[in-house]
Amino acid sequence: MALEEKREKRPPVTPMMIEEEAALRNGSRGLTPGPWAEAAGPRPRTTERHIAVHKRLVLGFAVSILALLAVTMIAVLLSVRFEECGAAADGPPRASGNGSLSGVARQPPGAGQPPGQPEEEARGGEAAEEEEEEEEEWQRRQELPPWARPRLPRHLRPLHYNLMLSAFMENFTFSGEVNVQLEVRNASRYIVLHAHRMHIEAVRVAEDKLAGGVRVARTFFYPQTQVFVVVLNRSLEVQRSYNLKIIYNALIENELLGFFRSSYVLHGERRFLAVTQFSPTHARKAFPCFDEPIYKATFKISIRHQATYLSLSNMPVETSVFEEDGWVTDHFSQTPLMSTYYLAWAVCNFTYRETVTKSGVVVRLYARPDAIRRGSGDYALNITRSLIEFYEDYFKVPYSLPKLDLLAVPKHPYAAMENWGLSVFVEQRILLDPSISSILYLLDVTMVIVHELCHQWFGDLVTPVWWEDVWLKEGFAHYFEFVGTDYLYPGWNMEKQRFLTDVLHEVMLLDGLASSHPVSQEVQQATDIDRVFDWIAYKKGAALIRMLANFMGHSVFQMGLQDYLTIHKYGNAARNDLWNTLSKALKRVGKSVNIQEVMDQWTLQMGYPVITILGNETTDIIVISQERFVYDSDAKPKDPSRGDNSYLWQIPLTIAVGNTSHISSEAIIWVSNKSEHHRIPAFEEAGWLLGNINQTGYFRVNYDIRNWRLLINQLTRNHEVISVSNRAGLIDDAFNLARAGYLPQNIPLEIIRYLSEEKDFLPWHAASRALYPLDKLLDRTENYNIFNEYILRQVASMYLKLGWPMNNLNKSLVQASYQHEELRREVIMLACSFGNKHCHQQAATLISDWISSNRNRIPLNVRDIVYCTGVSLMDEDVWEFIWMKFHSTTAVSEKKILLEALTCSDDRNLLNRLLNLSLNSEVVLDQDAIDVIIHVARNPHGRDLAWKFFREKWKILNARYGEALFMNSKLVSGVTEFLNTEGELRELKNFIKSYEGGAAVSFSRAVETVEANVRWQRLYKEELFHWLRKSLTH
Ligand SMILES: [Zn+2]
Repeated sequence: MALEEKREKRPPVTPMMIEEEAALRNGSRGLTPGPWAEAAGPRPRTTERHIAVHKRLVLGFAVSILALLAVTMIAVLLSVRFEECGAAADGPPRASGNGSLSGVARQPPGAGQPPGQPEEEARGGEAAEEEEEEEEEWQRRQELPPWARPRLPRHLRPLHYNLMLSAFMENFTFSGEVNVQLEVRNASRYIVLHAHRMHIEAVRVAEDKLAGGVRVARTFFYPQTQVFVVVLNRSLEVQRSYNLKIIYNALIENELLGFFRSSYVLHGERRFLAVTQFSPTHARKAFPCFDEPIYKATFKISIRHQATYLSLSNMPVETSVFEEDGWVTDHFSQTPLMSTYYLAWAVCNFTYRETVTKSGVVVRLYARPDAIRRGSGDYALNITRSLIEFYEDYFKVPYSLPKLDLLAVPKHPYAAMENWGLSVFVEQRILLDPSISSILYLLDVTMVIVHELCHQWFGDLVTPVWWEDVWLKEGFAHYFEFVGTDYLYPGWNMEKQRFLTDVLHEVMLLDGLASSHPVSQEVQQATDIDRVFDWIAYKKGAALIRMLANFMGHSVFQMGLQDYLTIHKYGNAARNDLWNTLSKALKRVGKSVNIQEVMDQWTLQMGYPVITILGNETTDIIVISQERFVYDSDAKPKDPSRGDNSYLWQIPLTIAVGNTSHISSEAIIWVSNKSEHHRIPAFEEAGWLLGNINQTGYFRVNYDIRNWRLLINQLTRNHEVISVSNRAGLIDDAFNLARAGYLPQNIPLEIIRYLSEEKDFLPWHAASRALYPLDKLLDRTENYNIFNEYILRQVASMYLKLGWPMNNLNKSLVQASYQHEELRREVIMLACSFGNKHCHQQAATLISDWISSNRNRIPLNVRDIVYCTGVSLMDEDVWEFIWMKFHSTTAVSEKKILLEALTCSDDRNLLNRLLNLSLNSEVVLDQDAIDVIIHVARNPHGRDLAWKFFREKWKILNARYGEALFMNSKLVSGVTEFLNTEGELRELKNFIKSYEGGAAVSFSRAVETVEANVRWQRLYKEELFHWLRKSLTH
């Protein structure tokens, strides 16, 4: 799953909406669904109706059953409880179509009751009493009843599911019948499985080999753990196999999880589609199932829909059966063993293009017909074919299904989801029109696809046992984004270079907070599971895997992965399984490292170390020490039982020594103590020491000032002696060490002086990213100009050398000169944002030309910079022009940068207007509103406006995004991260005291960040300005 930084809202469901939807359904349901779907008509679910019909229906319901089943049913009536009878609102319930009703229990709509409705209210008093007795019994045994435990009880295992669905797109409901073949491991009277927000019609349990059912005593939902419980009259017997049949129906909701709907406009007409998102815990909203990754089973799915639509699922369609009334049922082939959260289906009227890999895998890209016609999916389709071939070769495990469909949808909570054989992408992350896309956009699309394809092996084929290890699959997929992109574009050096700025440097910012958390997080409740999908899991996971690959050696690492996938395919594996396989691979090449012991320290402890290397001119002995790196040493540790001093890591440290013309080859030193002495041969003759060669390790390195000076000299005289990655690494380490107070403030500013000679993109990129937070710390201070002036001086000569790009880059140029174009873009961005006059003029000229000619001749790769600069410098007319273009453009990539440009204005009225418009869904898409607010907060003229707006609208924002934890946390950190005055800190703390619920973790991180900002201002701001003043007068 690739996290989307822009996630769409989940609109709160109000009672009114439920009623409206119910009315719509009941009014327009004129169909004759098939026999198994027939019993599963949708039901209104309002509380009032529920209670009103309850009493009068109990009797009628029982009578009709009696009439139907006559004498044999007396026994059934003794055990079956018709706890509630909303079903009878549509007449007497019908048999499920399989003859005997022996052992069938019918479930009331209380089953699908609106969230928050008390359980007792929805059930008959007698049943509740019985349940209470049972609960007391469990209490006496001092055990939680099996349905109240955070994990499913282990006594049953699903082997196979037959799932038959009917999708009613005209009223957005669906009905289903699931037959689960169960293996009994321990005898029990209870069947506990997940089911959430659905209406269960009927339940039947039968022994596989024998006729006749096992009688169901009662059934009930237990919403706290999102399970459905079937209580039987007798225990299921060990080692026998049973069939559980459940008939149910539910809504195709207008939201983002489970089986949900979205829409798009084609030729002026709104069209609907329905698609699933089950990861991590939402399969239970679409069918009753054992919704934990460990319960791998095979699935046979059938989908019945109107013939005007098509249906897709993980496997190819085996047969389609057409009915006379314009309906069709697609029967899909059976899946291999897989976890529920990777199951997927869709009902849409998209079209597709197709390609076939060398090994015969059919790859199709499905999207809305106009996009397919334009060829917007062709880029994704082509790289997918290459990438499947790449992964098959790298992992030496063939792709496991006969086909892979990529589905581009308008609305999705994540950038993409790697469902096995049917991966779903949000349109912005897969459709690409080469004539209007920047390199950055192309890179985004590419990496999301590389990520999802990696999951077909790491995730779909071998699945983490439980969610605490989600970082394993996400870390791998994120790491392979860079490896796979290198395969497609060998000159881009993604894994060796861009990985540093985009992953390593980025995540060390987050993980340097005392309020961070270990990459492997304990997860108990289902509601905790969303929490584990964060940048620590993705980026730190990837950084740790890269460190591992480097200290193992890439070829041994690759062999280890091949073994791991071969051993565990179609199964589940935990991190220790991986560590063991990798240790064995190392052993085979004669090396012995206990990988589990090393990696446990990195995955179970939060944070990372800073290594300090102290040399001595007169000897070849150096002192190496380690401590936990934190930005704010005053911040309270999250785990008060252990001080920062108790953190220790086994660190694979590489060290090289160098002088003006030469650098030694590095050697690995395993550092495992607080402080160690090491002899470095040839150190005496050499000038300087350099640690963490090519920044393959997940840690920072600090030196004594003398060594920093020698390194600065080296960079100034001949920077190419030090590798590109280490030049970027030195810049990032120096800025962050200074920010945290480990290093004087002038050292990083002295380092970047050499940049005027730097022709590689990466060190510039590292500098630009490191300068950004410093700029935000200073941008509202009265001496800001000094800082500004200093940065402009460093940028000026390179800006002159590189100039501006020509218009209309063609694709081959993009590929050939990626590094050069990215460097030029970076330098122009720095020049324009720090106020280089030529840069400003150029941007204004380009915008004026666009306005007067109404032809956009602005080079693609710098459009965002030009738009933003134009809006910030020019008058309101330009703002209005961009606003108009934002409305009229249809290209998704262009729309995004136009909207962001509007936040660059200096005019507070315009910024306020934009903030207020951002919550109007008809003007700004819900998923884009967050970006608007965050970008206004980055603008020094708008920071306080965004902060005020955020507090005033918190209730609305939290209701919109609260359930999408990742989105909410992005908003909280985006609005608060650059607050840096005592007053703002007070406002933040007061707000947290008074706010209502949600995002607690994000707020504690926000407080720590702002405290660190305030502390930096107090301790280091003057020191920095003092040095800058001195430096500028020289
Ligand atoms: Zn992923």
